[in-house]
Amino acid sequence: MDLSKLRHELEAIDARLIAALAERQDVVRRVGHEKAAGNGDIRDLPREEELLGRLVEQARSAGVDEYLVTRLYREIFESSVRRQQDSLVDSQNPRRASQRLITVGFQGVEGAYSHLAARKHFASRDADIVYRGFDSFRELLEAARAGVIDYAMLPIENTTAGSINEAYDLLAQMELALVGEEIKKVDHCLLGLEPAPLTRIHRVYSHPQALAQCSEFLRSHRHWHVEAFTDTAMSARKVRDDQDLSQAAIASEEAAQIYGLCVLKRRIANQKENYTRFVVVAREPVSVDPRIPCKTSVIIATRHEEGALLAALNVFARHHLNLTKLESRPRPNTPWEYLFYLDFEGNVAEERVRDALRELAAHTNFIKVLGSYAARATSRGRAARPKRARVAATAKEAPLPPPQAAKALEKKPYRLVSRAVRAADTVIRAGEALIGGPRPIVIAGPCSVESREQIFACAKMVKESGGDALRGGCFKPRTSPYAFQGMGYEGLDLLAEAGAAYGLPIVTEVMHPADVARVAEKADILQIGARNMQNFSLLKEFGRVDRPVILKRGLMASVDEWLSAAEYILAAGNQQVILCERGIRTFETATRNTLDLSAVPVARELTHLPIVVDPSHACGVARWVPAMTDAAIASGANGVMIEIHPEPEKALSDGPQSLDFPTFHNLMERVQARLA
Ligand code: PEP
Ligand code: MN
Repeated sequence: MDLSKLRHELEAIDARLIAALAERQDVVRRVGHEKAAGNGDIRDLPREEELLGRLVEQARSAGVDEYLVTRLYREIFESSVRRQQDSLVDSQNPRRASQRLITVGFQGVEGAYSHLAARKHFASRDADIVYRGFDSFRELLEAARAGVIDYAMLPIENTTAGSINEAYDLLAQMELALVGEEIKKVDHCLLGLEPAPLTRIHRVYSHPQALAQCSEFLRSHRHWHVEAFTDTAMSARKVRDDQDLSQAAIASEEAAQIYGLCVLKRRIANQKENYTRFVVVAREPVSVDPRIPCKTSVIIATRHEEGALLAALNVFARHHLNLTKLESRPRPNTPWEYLFYLDFEGNVAEERVRDALRELAAHTNFIKVLGSYAARATSRGRAARPKRARVAATAKEAPLPPPQAAKALEKKPYRLVSRAVRAADTVIRAGEALIGGPRPIVIAGPCSVESREQIFACAKMVKESGGDALRGGCFKPRTSPYAFQGMGYEGLDLLAEAGAAYGLPIVTEVMHPADVARVAEKADILQIGARNMQNFSLLKEFGRVDRPVILKRGLMASVDEWLSAAEYILAAGNQQVILCERGIRTFETATRNTLDLSAVPVARELTHLPIVVDPSHACGVARWVPAMTDAAIASGANGVMIEIHPEPEKALSDGPQSLDFPTFHNLMERVQARLA
């Protein structure tokens, strides 16, 4: 009788505690709004410590366990900070703030560690949250990309098992942004149907990772039959569904709750401190207030230069940006080259971070900024850095470009392509060819890929004459809609086969943004045609792939406009741009276009990017091409691109300007003799 009365009293007290927490939370929200509007520090650690001191004092005089109060309030402060950070982020991202219903995806079933991490992460959001499990990481991220879910919770590394390679590879491939991170402690338990001695267990199920992480415990029960399962929570579900007392699962304590199982043994992992770090993935990046301690994640491919990685990492040191993670993964389609994943403390909203990223671009072939997000994985309670003081100190130490170059840079509509950012020539590699290096290269091939015989004959010719790359149009920009439009992807397959057969990298034009990524899978160099030089959505798409690009100068484009178009590609991440002078339109009609060779020395002064010359489209007539090829090389071009055809008179496009094989072979002999 007394006991039930006491229990009632306890329930009433708990209800008051919860009500007090709710009230506190409401005040925290209002403080958050004040901070969002003003300049107050988001986290005031000395104040927190002082407050905690007072609370401990109060606890002591009230006879309450000080340790309990300390732990409790650390959690409460943590939750307040998260709420305030969330409302700050909301205040700067109105779309996010207006979301009343949030869909969060994860890989696995309810109760999986990813699900638990998602619940932890989104607990502080003022919205209804719906969670949805997916079978694979790829399906999960595709759903985020398609907007089927708002966020995807993606495990990226584990403190025991290391990096999760598939997660990294997918982030490089897919157009997605990182908007958050979460740390979840992994606490494996042995779960069964009901409390029973371990001797009753005969079978244990779990994810292979979890089984490996509990190997010592399992070894002490040798007679158990251990079976791998797709995920920990699924193994818990199986134990519940089978209703067999001899079965057990290794999963989290939360999974036991969800599936109505009992914890037979806690903390069975070999390593007691085991954490998984998750990233929160969304379609669009968020902007985060610089007062929130942030991390930024980027992917880079370093240049083919000695010390390239060191030079890239030095940029972080120079800008006092603390690197928290460096991971390397194989670069797709490029054996023995690597993509590097970097996390550092900083926020792209800060000028010093933007400066560092610009400088970093000059040391890379490709850079992709995945996003800036509130840091969770810094050591607990670490204060936000005093940013303003830091920026001032950095500005003094940062090496400034020489005054004239800095002036020139101010006036120009481009930066990354400028010599002021990078004094050394950029060398771009495609297969074995080095474009921008000491030797000019020759790209040759037909205007259009027309048949297997034709493209194989051209490839053989290019190879035997000492050419460096094979060109061939598959998607053709034709003036008349009735002219041959190219063989499309069928042509690309033939071009790729011919290139592979003769060991030549291949070059082909892409006209539509939707084709860029697909063509990039097969082509070693992508081309933007003259007519598309200012197709800005196309330029941006070229910036998102890790593939060299030939950017043709537009028919009516000034050198500044041409370099600004290149800037679009570099600014979107891809640093591997080769400029191509192919003639401009003037009053002169004797030639198809007027080859502006003076643009070569001019552009080489303004930019570090390599420049090749296409005399074929400039002349429009084959017999003038050899002379202009010589002239192009004499002007300092890094290479030439020449149209050839086994039977020019039968060519489906640009026959009149295409060299036949004997003429091309002669030309190559002359070029090589001169360069020798
Ligand atoms: C080409 O190289 O096939 C081509 C169409 O060139 P441009 O864009 O320079 O006319
Ligand atoms: Mn052509």
